[in-house]
Amino acid sequence: MEKDFLFGKTLAELQETVLGLGLPKFTAKQLADWLYKKDITEFDQMTNLSKKARALLEEKFVVGLSAPVKETVSKDGTKKYLFSSGENRFVEAAYIPDKDRATLCLSCQTGCKMGCKFCNTGLQGFAGNLNVNQILNQIKSLPEKDNLTNLVFMGMGEPMDNLQNIMKALEILTSDYGFAMSPHRITLSTVGIMPALKEFLDKTDVHLAVSVHNPFAKERAEIMPIEKAQPLERALMEIEKHDFRHQRRFSAEYIMIQGFNDTPTHARKLAEILKNIPSRVNLIRYHEHPGSDFKSSSEIRIREFQEILNSKNIITTIRASRGEDIFAACGLLSTKEMKK
Ligand code: SF4
Repeated sequence: MEKDFLFGKTLAELQETVLGLGLPKFTAKQLADWLYKKDITEFDQMTNLSKKARALLEEKFVVGLSAPVKETVSKDGTKKYLFSSGENRFVEAAYIPDKDRATLCLSCQTGCKMGCKFCNTGLQGFAGNLNVNQILNQIKSLPEKDNLTNLVFMGMGEPMDNLQNIMKALEILTSDYGFAMSPHRITLSTVGIMPALKEFLDKTDVHLAVSVHNPFAKERAEIMPIEKAQPLERALMEIEKHDFRHQRRFSAEYIMIQGFNDTPTHARKLAEILKNIPSRVNLIRYHEHPGSDFKSSSEIRIREFQEILNSKNIITTIRASRGEDIFAACGLLSTKEMKK
């Protein structure tokens, strides 16, 4: 019988596990400490657990951490790690050091169902959700884990399409029994799927980023098929109900595609649809990749776009490209080729 993983279980699940083995309930808290706050890979290292407890755990469970199977380093210092997500399946995580910050861009699915036309992951199709163990393993098994200051769920997959695992992962990341991270060090990016988005907004205080990419519904649908079933307008109406004026942040992600979404009319419309939400807009250069004919807007176009948004009092950042040479930049993650 295959042994179950303990790493990735919430405190409630650990309690259920230890009670099921006839161990005292407080063992669950000790286990959480070892799993999430310390660096162990074997039960024998859990020295404050009785020998009997360790033997019982060992019979049915493994800790369940697995190191990346491949590392690629960019000339700008960004690193891309490949993790196994099942037989012949892989996901990528990008480690992005930047002065006093170090961000991990992590994945939540192998591939993605959303099929966004500008995204390399979208082109690869969908092969499965990551479970909580696989989501958190990208952090815990990262060689640079002790340097991490920020996490962004902007890698492969759509978090709202795997919400229950994402919510458990966020619980473990932000709880005192777990990684005890501030939710304001975590950003989750979505195309805006309801009602999952509402649940995420109601139950967490994690920053939100929404893939906007075009303020006109008809045009957005051309590059983001999900717009037809899940209009951005509906997601924005929900977001308006939540507090993004204080500590929690909302950002609109906008990939600049030449001749498609980069005119002054688009900039003005974007400002209009965001007028009721305290927003930042991240303008992202389009990263060209095989299988897509789009080109990035010119630097001048991007600056003009930014100026229009600034004139409407919207804070706008032109996102620096990181890891483009190793296909770790925004929209480039794909593990399709790895199967070979
Ligand atoms: S942009 Fe995000 S939601 Fe769209 S296909 Fe890529 S990974 Fe999926």
